[in-house]
Amino acid sequence: MSLSRRIILSAADNVLIRSIAVRYGLRLGASRFVAGTTIEDALRVARELNSKGLVVTMDLLGESVSNRDEALAAREEILKILPAVEREGIDSGLSIKLTQLGLDIDGEFCLDNVDRIVRQAKELGNFVRIDMEDSPRVQATIDIFRELHDRYGDHVGLAVQSYLYRTMDDVIELGPRKANLRIVKGAYSEPPEVAYQSKRDVDEEFCRIVEKHLELGGYAAVATHDRKIIDFTKRLVQERGIPHDQFEFQMLYGISRGLQEELVSEGYKVRVYLPFGSHWYPYFTRRLAERPANLFFVLRNLLRY
Ligand SMILES: Cc1cc2nc3c(=O)[nH]c(=O)nc-3n(C[C@H](O)[C@H](O)[C@H](O)COP(=O)(O)OP(=O)(O)OC[C@H]3O[C@@H](n4cnc5c(N)ncnc54)[C@H](O)[C@@H]3O)c2cc1C
Repeated sequence: MSLSRRIILSAADNVLIRSIAVRYGLRLGASRFVAGTTIEDALRVARELNSKGLVVTMDLLGESVSNRDEALAAREEILKILPAVEREGIDSGLSIKLTQLGLDIDGEFCLDNVDRIVRQAKELGNFVRIDMEDSPRVQATIDIFRELHDRYGDHVGLAVQSYLYRTMDDVIELGPRKANLRIVKGAYSEPPEVAYQSKRDVDEEFCRIVEKHLELGGYAAVATHDRKIIDFTKRLVQERGIPHDQFEFQMLYGISRGLQEELVSEGYKVRVYLPFGSHWYPYFTRRLAERPANLFFVLRNLLRY
């Protein structure tokens, strides 16, 4: 992890910076990455994306809740999303974070909350992706995913991070399930004891994981804006004769829009991760940390006000 990324992530924890950002942040630039604060905002943006041939995964922002009431409230809000998507005829699945649903409080309680969400997705013929969070939560997240995959099959999928040394083994271990895995580089600040630190190592591992997962017959959601990895995937599927219904590309809302549309025009399936809700701050700071140049556009907006 680069020094600038570490500095931005730790500055983001500063109480003063946090309170200023939460007050003015959407105007200062967070709206580039976040659809808005309400489900109506998210549905409107999702409709626009669908009209460009992009499919969507919606995410109600929020993580690390510390009491049961907050987790239950999040669950109830999340349970409104897929019925609204169905009602509006929008092509979107759902992404969730387990710490928003009580993972840090009690594993069984979290499992029960997520069970309801995935059960609803199955009833509606839709799909729920479990995002991967920081390394201390990885094992518990995989355990919950396994349990739900046993119960609901391909209505649930998981994200895995190529910066973690353990991920290749996890992918091999999950292999017989032929599960739907989203492969990402990883967005948290992780120490060298558990994660590759150089971009080169993370990128090479990403490609190896995509290759292995496809070889094992799983569905790969290749989630990156990195053109080299996208080109690698295109070559791989071409050479191995992997059908277009065994993989898709995924990108974040507001990032590399030109590339998203280019891939659609080439006939690839592209899904946009569309976050919305009032708890956008940690998500926003991870996007700034990935690309410090984004800070300049926040500062430019600041000068306008
Ligand atoms: C659909 C999706 C879901 C994700 N889910 C998870 C998850 O569950 N858990 C997790 O830990 N991480 C998740 N991530 C984040 C991921 O781990 C990376 O932090 C993020 O995607 C940036 O890495 P990159 O693959 O784009 O490669 P990078 O090497 O970081 O970037 C490649 C290029 O993409 C562009 N780019 C990348 N990030 C930005 C940015 N913030 N602003 C502007 N341009 C940018 C730049 O042109 C850059 O040169 C997800 C990412 C995507 C796309």
